[in-house]
Amino acid sequence: MPDPRNLTSDEVRALQHQVGVLNRLVEISQAMNSTLQLNPLLDTIMEAATELTGSEGASILLVDNNTGDLHFTAATGEVSSELLGKVVPLDQSIAGAIISENRAMIVDDVHNEPRHYVSLDEAMAFQTRSLLGVPMRIHDRLIGVLEVVNKLEGEFQPEDMRSITILAAQAAIAIHNTWLVRSFEETSAELDKLNKLKSDFIAIASHELRTPLGIILGYAALLQESSTGITLDYATSLFKSALKMRTLVEGMTNLRYLQLEESEMQLEHVSLDDMMRSAYEEVLDLANAKNHLYVYEEMEEDLCVVADRSKAIMALINVLNNAVKFTPSGGAIILSAERHHNEGWVVVRDNGYGIPGEALERIFDQFYQVEDPLTRRHGGLGIGLTITRAVMGRHSGRVWAESPGPGEGSRFTLAFPLAEKSTP
Ligand code: ADP
Repeated sequence: MPDPRNLTSDEVRALQHQVGVLNRLVEISQAMNSTLQLNPLLDTIMEAATELTGSEGASILLVDNNTGDLHFTAATGEVSSELLGKVVPLDQSIAGAIISENRAMIVDDVHNEPRHYVSLDEAMAFQTRSLLGVPMRIHDRLIGVLEVVNKLEGEFQPEDMRSITILAAQAAIAIHNTWLVRSFEETSAELDKLNKLKSDFIAIASHELRTPLGIILGYAALLQESSTGITLDYATSLFKSALKMRTLVEGMTNLRYLQLEESEMQLEHVSLDDMMRSAYEEVLDLANAKNHLYVYEEMEEDLCVVADRSKAIMALINVLNNAVKFTPSGGAIILSAERHHNEGWVVVRDNGYGIPGEALERIFDQFYQVEDPLTRRHGGLGIGLTITRAVMGRHSGRVWAESPGPGEGSRFTLAFPLAEKSTP
């Protein structure tokens, strides 16, 4: 490294200039990173490019991913709006050469450069004299070209090329980020649309199914009463299936009303013991059918919460049903309660299939199921936990899931705020 005391005043000036340019590049980089909107970002890049090189104008040409064409995406000056979208032939333009040869270029006089795309200048009534262009890359992929034209004083110098190369590298990353954000927004809008379609479908289906299902249930019950032998077996299985369908339809209706916050809450003082016992008994037959060890561990003190009794029981039944469903036959399911400060926690533990860490929150999303919909072995619409969370929300309570991972069982906690008389 040269001793600064030995530098000539010209060399000191050159160094000071370089430091100034680098500082400016840092500021520009910060400005570029502060926007995730493509158009303002392109304006910032071009403004910086003209400023750093003392040029008349700048433009950005991006490669079309589908066709491989190069087209003007942004340009400064009066002709900018006419230039936008114009395709530039890869084999008859300097920008095309920059892409094909994957290197920066300085052209002092474009009229001596056979690859200059003259017809564009003619169409735009613009006079390009000199040009400096650099490729923009993301990793090894070329995404476009950043060009500055017509140096205002003298000719483009190697340091202009250095500044524009640094700028182009940062610009490429910033442009790529805006694409990622846009694609994320599009995907999430698409998902919202799909979820809305599903919700609409469920709303219509549940509404339309209710009346015919009521009739089927009515006749199946009548048939059961008046039949014997094999006909009674048929009637009984018809009645059971119709009951299952009614549970599904009720789930759909509940979800809709809870989400619209239209369902009225009948709040009263409810004992946690009473609530848990009712939910436990509702799921007893199912648990026995799978030979589970199914235990309700009573608490010594009874806790009291302010709740809509039937909705709170429904929320707990959903969790118990899942524990039974997602535990292989002969498993263990334990229902218990704990006091935690001013909350009563109702806990359901199972030693079943468990839940992968990344799904622990998502299982509360509408229609989300851990199993692949095409190969899944368990029935259900994927709305039980959504209903449970909505119910808990309406009680100013919480619900969450924990699991050490697949095959390791799960633990669900429903936390209800305790009623005054239960808090110490
Ligand atoms: P459904 O049970 O109809 O699929 P839910 O909303 O009740 O819908 O549950 C969503 C998903 O959460 C289930 O499909 C399942 O993948 C997972 N899940 C819920 N409870 C458990 C549990 N106790 N053990 C393992 N996975 C569970």
